[in-house]
Amino acid sequence: MTNAPKAGIVVVGSLNADLTIYCDRLPQPGETVHGNGFAVNPGGKSANQAVAASKLGGQVSLIGAVGDDPNGTMLLDSTASAGVDVSRVLRTDVATGVAVISVDSTGENSIIISAGANGTLRPAAVTPDAFKDAAVVCLCLEVGIDTVIAAAQAGHDAGATVLLNLSPYAEVPERLARLSDVLLVNAHEASFFLGTESRVPDPEAIAEAWEPVRSQFADRGLQRVLVTLGAHGSVVLDSLARGTEDQITRIAPTRVSAVDTTGAGDAFTGAVAARLAAGDSLADAASFASVAAALAATKKGTQAAYPSTADVEQLRD
Ligand code: ADP
Repeated sequence: MTNAPKAGIVVVGSLNADLTIYCDRLPQPGETVHGNGFAVNPGGKSANQAVAASKLGGQVSLIGAVGDDPNGTMLLDSTASAGVDVSRVLRTDVATGVAVISVDSTGENSIIISAGANGTLRPAAVTPDAFKDAAVVCLCLEVGIDTVIAAAQAGHDAGATVLLNLSPYAEVPERLARLSDVLLVNAHEASFFLGTESRVPDPEAIAEAWEPVRSQFADRGLQRVLVTLGAHGSVVLDSLARGTEDQITRIAPTRVSAVDTTGAGDAFTGAVAARLAAGDSLADAASFASVAAALAATKKGTQAAYPSTADVEQLRD
């Protein structure tokens, strides 16, 4: 009897309450501007990624920590009602993490996060039994680096694809880079990772322009990298060690009228996780994710704005 391939997605990381003010333009340092709306919504990169993957058909389990407070209850309710298994989300006596977000009239945002309970998530919360059905392990850097490394190791040991979203940017220890099967970065994070003198090529650039970037990532021990470029789409750098030019794939953007791009990157990451777990190639997963993330940008908020598979298929037709 052959075993069915594993299809689970384990997301390890953050849950935050998003406190969002909408305004015409973002304030300069020292300046006060009038807002035109305020909302409290469930967020946090990992909670968002888990919800995005679950809404797109993934079998998702979330490992994280929230406080024993109303924001913690809101986050557990929102993730669970999207179909995410939250039985491994711990409740602590430290307040739930918070993100203070400003969004301007073009959908651009600025964000400050306070880790709160996320800071209590220790490597001990990452036990091997949580990974036994994992095809994909999805990680970001909103929780302690030791916990991220422990999760990457557990995912690697379970034979899962370890997907690391290098956000918010921090130095990546060599061990974590080696354990990451797919690195997912936006343009800023890519530049920071490669060194501030490195700039990712113009979004419209032909594949050869990406060749130096590809080889720099390969030199840092990465196998596969996905670079997101906001409204310009994304670029897949696959099989870096082999280094043939046709392993650089540009994913064209999906043109939408963006209202709020907060969490578009998380929608993209969750969609990539869902499609990799379903057996897609990285380029196919990125192409699907590009549509899912664009749809997410057409509505205010994060989790509530995330599309279903049917929504994505409809826009792709
Ligand atoms: P982050 O949100 O992490 O900064 P990006 O801004 O690169 O990441 O956005 C992630 C992905 O979301 C992009 O690769 C793209 O697929 C999609 N996206 C973001 N903004 C838009 C937009 N204005 N129009 C269409 N797609 C968008």
